[in-house]
Order: sequence, then structure tokens, then C-alpha cells
Amino acid sequence: MRASRVSASYGARVGIAESGSFGGTCVNVGCIPKKLFSYAARFREEVLDAADFGWSTPQPKFDWQTLLRNKDREIGRLNGLYERILVDNKVQIHRGRATLVDPHTVEVGGRRHTAKHILVCTGSWPEKPAIPGAELGITSNQAFHLEELPSRALVVGGGYIAVEFASIFNGLGVETTLAYRGAQLLRGFDSDIGTRLAEEMARKGVAVRLKTNPVRLERGIRVAFEDGSSESFGLVLFATGRKPNTAGIGLQAAGVKLAADGAIVVDRYSKSSVDSIHAIGDVTNRINLTPVATAEAMWLAKTLFRNEPTPVDHENVATAVFSHPNIATVGLSEAQARERHGAVEVYKAAFRSLKHTMGSSQEKVFMKLVVDAATQRVLGAHMMGPEAGEIIQGIAIAVKLGATKAQFDATIGIHPTAAEEFVTMREKSG
Ligand code: NDP
Repeated sequence: MRASRVSASYGARVGIAESGSFGGTCVNVGCIPKKLFSYAARFREEVLDAADFGWSTPQPKFDWQTLLRNKDREIGRLNGLYERILVDNKVQIHRGRATLVDPHTVEVGGRRHTAKHILVCTGSWPEKPAIPGAELGITSNQAFHLEELPSRALVVGGGYIAVEFASIFNGLGVETTLAYRGAQLLRGFDSDIGTRLAEEMARKGVAVRLKTNPVRLERGIRVAFEDGSSESFGLVLFATGRKPNTAGIGLQAAGVKLAADGAIVVDRYSKSSVDSIHAIGDVTNRINLTPVATAEAMWLAKTLFRNEPTPVDHENVATAVFSHPNIATVGLSEAQARERHGAVEVYKAAFRSLKHTMGSSQEKVFMKLVVDAATQRVLGAHMMGPEAGEIIQGIAIAVKLGATKAQFDATIGIHPTAAEEFVTMREKSG
């Protein structure tokens, strides 16, 4: 979408092939419907919290069909909007599945089209583990269209999708178990974040089972785990990673080199092993986030159609996980910072937010700064707590600009907020 629109605005004649709905994973079975579900899952707690502020509220009751219907209407609106943007930008739409025939030719629905440049943005697809009975479980693709909510659900995995969907199911009143094969959720994030998220999710009612992996599923759905235990669930969701969509689209015929994981191998300008073929987004398995893919699209459009060769910039990309509580982070984890920079200073804050001091909620907000001891630059900022993404987005500008801890400290906080902790942390904790 973004590559088409921006390239067209630079004067390129653009065609796009799509076999499904416009907007890709993010709009159809990713970020957008996920965040709508995530909002839905928060309301029960909000209603219960309201009682501490004097409201008498009826016991909240949830209707899945209403949420599905309203979500589908919004996604339909976005699909239409996206298509209109393409039409308005004079992008020629080819309905159907595209296959590459050679480095300059694409076939869609039996018709061949030639182009100076071909861009592959076919995304990725959820993967299930190769265990007996895996077909009885679903992936996130189906989770967005369930006919009804189960009373008990098992979510398998410990990454973004696993913690987000476990939080969604739990918030919507489903008795939820999260089984992760590792010892700490969200591998690759700062380890304090993984540990604290497991604690908070458990406090909210998710049965978090670490170092636990299913080995077999049987009708029922009866799940046998590695440790010999077994349990029954109404639904099993595999959130065990996604694989680049590179099979069956003629990449081999065109001579495009793939990595062992199936991703298209590209250089810093998103060019594949074939000069006329570029690839961006999840299909290249670099940083699999929507805003990264759209940035890659804009850099590429500049490179190809504005005579401004622009390499990708994957440094200090902020990201949020819409688990409950939310997580957001920018820059290096403490472990990554120690590995790359040697001596680092660490600042941490853990507290109950003002909103929760009045009530019975024990939910903690957690913040952490990782600072390079030699240069005093802030290398990483990590947060768990309400609206963490909204807060870290601003902090990310400072980190991207190379701000020092002293510059954070010289910034006056906004009181009373949780965010102000990022500019008032004075005690080193490591
Ligand atoms: P992730 O790679 O984030 O997590 C996959 C999880 O599944 C890991 O915990 C992994 O364990 C585990 N796993 C992998 N294989 C197996 C297996 N065979 N058996 C059991 N467990 C297994 O993938 P997701 O599917 O959660 O998400 C894909 C990507 O999409 C994310 O990495 C992210 O880039 C993007 N995304 C972004 C979101 C956002 O911005 N909020 C939301 C959702 C997705 P281990 O850690 O041990 O390898």
C-alpha cells in the first residue's frame, strides 16, 4: 500500500496485485483488530475499578457477537478506504494471486505484466508446531473470526501474539492458560519486562505455565504436555511464530535467493539477489512491525523513484506489546547493552499508579532506563504499564537523538503522571 502510493506520488506508473482484502495482516488479522479486541478486554477491569471511585455498576456482561460485528464493520471500512487511496493515486489494481515468471514479468489471473521494478511484500503466515493433533488448534488468523468464545483456552507461545491473545481471552472472561516452552516471556525484550509481565498476567488471572510445551493434542481438545500432565480446553491457539510467505510465487523461477527460514535475502536498500526485484516487510524477516515495513516502503520509493538512495534504518525502533498490562520499549535491553557497551548504569522504578492507589488493584507500573556508563547516553527505555506505547513513543525520539541521562533529568516532568518517572529516576540500581 505505502510503496504503491508513495512511488506513484514520485511519478512512477504502479500496478498492485492482491488476492485478498487490502491492508495486509495489520489491517485484516493483526494490529488493528487485535487492538480493538484489546480495548474490549480492558473494560471489565475498568468497570470494577469504577466502584472504588464511587460508582455503583452492574456486573459487566460481555457479548462476543457484538464485538465481532463492530470489528468487522470497521475493518471493512478500512479495506474500502485503502482501495480508494490506491485508485485516487492512479495505482492499477490487479485482482488475484501473482506469480513471478522472470525478473521483469508477473502473471496475475492468466495475464502477464512487465515492469522495470518488481516489489514483493507478501508478508508472513502463522506457523503451528509439528506435533500430533496440531490441526485441532488454531492460529491468530482464525482467532479474529471465532464463532463463539470458549470457556477455557490454551495459548501456546511466549511472544507478542501469545501474551496479547492470552490477555484478550482472559479479559473477556475466558479461563486462560498460557504455556511457554522458555523460562521467561518475550524473549529478546529486557528480562525484567518478561519476568514482571508473567507476574502481572498471573495476578489478572491467566494461568502462566513456563517451561511447559504441548506434545500432543487429541479430540476434546485434550492437550498432553511435556511434563506428563494433560488438560482439556475448548480452544487451543498456537502463537508460535510466523513464516515468510515465499512459497509458490515463482521466486525461484526469477532467481531470487531465500534464507534458510524462507525469507527473501535483501541488501540495505531492500534489493534481492536479482537487481530488478526488491522486497520489504515481513517477507524479509528483518523487524516484523507494520511501521518498519511502511518506512522500508518510503525509503525504497526514494531510492528507486526520487534518485535519493536511502538505506534502511533499523536502529532504535520502538515497539509495543498490547498485553495487559501493556509493554513498550525502545533501544537495548540491559543484557544487549552490557554485551555491546560493557559498563552500563541501570535505573528502575516500580510503583502503583495514582489511579490504582485508591482501589484494590495491586497492578504495578515498571520503568527502566539503561545508560552507557562512558557516554551517559540512554541506550534503552523499557516500560510495563497503562498506555506504555503512548509514553515510549515520545521517549523514543529522545533515544533516537542520542539524549543523555542528564538531559532526561533536566526535563521537567508532568505531574501527576506515570510518564514523569522517566525524568525523575535518580537512584542507580545496577
Ligand atoms: P514471536 O516470534 O514473537 O514468538 C513466537 C513464540 O513461539 C516464542 O515465544 C517462541 O519461543 C515460541 N515458539 C516457536 N516455535 C515453537 C514451538 N515449536 N513450540 C512451542 N513454542 C514455540 O512470534 P509471534 O507469532 O508472537 O508474532 C510474530 C511477529 O509478529 C512478532 O515477532 C512481531 O514481530 C510481530 N507482531 C507484532 C505485534 C506488535 O507490534 N504489537 C503484535 C503481534 C505480532 P522461543 O522464544 O523459545 O523461541
